[in-house]
Amino acid sequence: MCKEPFVTNEQLQEIVKQFPTPFHLYDEKGIRENAQAVKDAFSWNKGYREYFAVKAEPNPFIINILHEYGCGCDCSSMTELMLSDALGIRGENIMFSSNDTPPQEFRYADKLGAVINLDDITHIEFLEQTIGKIPETISCRYNPGGIYEVSNGIMDNPQDAKYGFTKEQLFEGYKILKQKGAKRFGLHSFLVSNTITNDYYPVLAKTLFELAVEIKEKLGITIHFINLSGGVGVAYKPDQKPNDIRVIGEGVRKVFNEVLVPAGLSDMAIYTEMGRFMTGPYGCLVTTAVHEKHTYKEYIGVDACAANLMRPAMYGAYHHITVMGKEHEPCDHIYDVVGSLCENNDKFAVDRMLPKIQKGDILVIHDTGAHGFAMGYNYNGRLWSAEVLLKEDGTPKLIRRAQTPKDYFATFDCFDILKDMDFSF
Ligand SMILES: *Cc1c(COP(=O)(O)O)cnc(C)c1O
Repeated sequence: MCKEPFVTNEQLQEIVKQFPTPFHLYDEKGIRENAQAVKDAFSWNKGYREYFAVKAEPNPFIINILHEYGCGCDCSSMTELMLSDALGIRGENIMFSSNDTPPQEFRYADKLGAVINLDDITHIEFLEQTIGKIPETISCRYNPGGIYEVSNGIMDNPQDAKYGFTKEQLFEGYKILKQKGAKRFGLHSFLVSNTITNDYYPVLAKTLFELAVEIKEKLGITIHFINLSGGVGVAYKPDQKPNDIRVIGEGVRKVFNEVLVPAGLSDMAIYTEMGRFMTGPYGCLVTTAVHEKHTYKEYIGVDACAANLMRPAMYGAYHHITVMGKEHEPCDHIYDVVGSLCENNDKFAVDRMLPKIQKGDILVIHDTGAHGFAMGYNYNGRLWSAEVLLKEDGTPKLIRRAQTPKDYFATFDCFDILKDMDFSF
């Protein structure tokens, strides 16, 4: 099974002359085409807005590209709010969907005029005490509990998830919020991550639409927007069929017409907070094979490690690998492709069939455009890589430089050791 990189070997050989590996490379053309497809898929809904989940890829250049297609920012922390603010994306262009929220973050979100999406019923009082009021527009996150199924089987266990209000709390919460002066209400739910089915959004939408109708009937409260949140997945494996956003948009439209229109709720705005689907397939981690090791297994050591891409180590996630220039050679070698961390789970691939790899070969690790660089960390003193944008005209542009040892030691300034350190190598 084949999965092709968005960059050719020829292009990449030029790019690595300018930017040393490892780095994450992003495909501007792919990001733009996909953002347009998302916009088109939901254009039937007047109030539709995608709030890009900033945590998936917190890079200002990427967020600005998405903003051109009408995307706002879904933020969940102080620095994500700061980033959105710095880009001039404010007010109702920010969805603040956080949990276990510190008071200063509620204060900042309120100052920016963000839509606040509450994670818990106790946060109503906490928010009121923190900012001195309940905002006119407010949203609540719903957790239906139980297990969640679509046509092709069980998807996840919301009852084990830390997020959201129970149904009872939700009804109580809207009542309290209304008494406290809220005027526009939102309903949000995020049940399953990385779904590879065009049914997830429509099935979730049906649940939330029916709930909005029930809220209207029982409480006399009109929900103004329904936020389907994230969870639309990416085909990481070559044999998976990618989601079709047009089919997903149509599926949501169908239940909208079945449930909301007859209930007199046809003004409902649909929001999404996709991260993975917006950028995941349009990024890759470019790394060089630097060692080969033959012991009880065959190992290829690369110059990237789990600090640059944590998903395989953290969840055993599959990321496809292409050995550049050997795309058409037989995959007749079985390798573990490993990074340098002193952790045995620092493996980008285990028992993977690949063409014979030589030292110096460039490997492309696919689908790192979301929750890739963003999950980077500094364990073992490993530094963050650069991020490079492959522009539509085929030229590369540095959109985040690599971290340097000086950056790494910067937080030791209280010990006054920095002035004597040698950063020249
Ligand atoms: C992580 C997250 C998202 C984005 O999820 P994806 O799976 O990347 O689409 C959206 N909303 C909230 C509240 C999240 O925590």
